Amino acid sequence: MNIHEYQAKELLRGYGVAVPRGGVAFTPEEAASVARELGGPVWVVKSQIHAGGRGAGRFQDNPTGKGGVRVVKSVEEVASNAAEMLNHVLVTKQTGPAGKEVKRLYVEEGADIKRELYLGLLIDRATGRVTIIASTEGGMEIEEVAHNTPEKIVKVAIDPATGIQGHHTRKVAFALGLEGKQVGAAAMFIQAAYKAFTDLDCAIVEINPLIVTGAGDILALDAKMSFDDNALFRNKDVAALRDEAEEDPAEIEAAKHELNYVKLDGNIGCMVNGAGLAMATMDIIKLYGAEPANFLDVGGGATKERVTAAFKLILSDSAVEGILVNIFGGIMRCDVIAEGVVAAARDVKLHVPLVVRLEGTNVAFGKQILADSGLPILSADNLDDAARKIVAAVKKEAA
Ligand code: ADP
Ligand code: MG
Repeated sequence: MNIHEYQAKELLRGYGVAVPRGGVAFTPEEAASVARELGGPVWVVKSQIHAGGRGAGRFQDNPTGKGGVRVVKSVEEVASNAAEMLNHVLVTKQTGPAGKEVKRLYVEEGADIKRELYLGLLIDRATGRVTIIASTEGGMEIEEVAHNTPEKIVKVAIDPATGIQGHHTRKVAFALGLEGKQVGAAAMFIQAAYKAFTDLDCAIVEINPLIVTGAGDILALDAKMSFDDNALFRNKDVAALRDEAEEDPAEIEAAKHELNYVKLDGNIGCMVNGAGLAMATMDIIKLYGAEPANFLDVGGGATKERVTAAFKLILSDSAVEGILVNIFGGIMRCDVIAEGVVAAARDVKLHVPLVVRLEGTNVAFGKQILADSGLPILSADNLDDAARKIVAAVKKEAA
């Protein structure tokens, strides 16, 4: 789960991370009132969407205008810029061409930026450790820095048995070119961010940019936090920060039915049980020259209701031109799955080709149910056969 910048800053502030003062606003009036309270002379009005690159992004209705992060010098300008941003669609490198509508703003005191640095914490899957990523190249996308100038990135892995130590923070501080009292300030900053990361079960904490001010202070100017969904049950305060408006409606619907669904760009909808089989199914669709429209794992104990919900979800995506059901009946019996598929296909008035590949317990019985249904369901014998059939069916439809 992701949260907004202002929420991340509030959480981090609670752990002692240095962040500028600011307040959230839902209307231009609220933005002006926050600005008056902060007192100036410089304010920054920041679009709150779950995507980065806001500063360089542009509003859809004004592509030559100003971006999603604006520095202004009066309360009136805070309000007028707020009006230009609220309820307008911001397109950034990370939103894709559709962009995201700005529904909240963060009004923050303007900082005197001397240097822009990068600091990130994440779990490195290779070492299984929380790892600090730091770079002197702040303000730009770290992926780009990693690609163009990998030598400018330092990584420090933290052993969970010892937790964060002075040598970790010193290594980062020196890599960032910090000196004198900044080294101590950076140590406190990084330790606080690490504590927040581990306490709150984060997947990512990213401060980009981390700045050094004209006065030599260290400050988080931007903050992104992402959390491990499986740990949200024990972090109720974090779970409460969820903003469903920022999430894919289909993914929210999927979560209600305990389906693991991720929308993708292709045209073949997939319904599979087990994440590994779902990945293999997506791979083989690609192998046969088409693209999956989604990842969907219906789980081990899928019921008829769940299968129906999954079908509806797949068909709610207008890009879907065919469906491939690939289910291994281990815990679940193939006849039960077949009944679910038939009922769901009738229920949703299926209008695209459907290929079903069943394997496992009661497979013959399951196939019989599909064949007897009178529905135009194409039965497949194995994964290869299934992928070939659905790709052919979709290509024929398109032709
Ligand atoms: P994004 O990464 O989505 O573009 P940031 O919060 O990083 O958004 O803001 C983009 C840029 O705007 C920053 O790199 C910084 O130069 C400037 N900026 C952001 N917040 C402030 C602030 N409070 N004071 C001064 N400049 C800011
Ligand atoms: Mg940023």
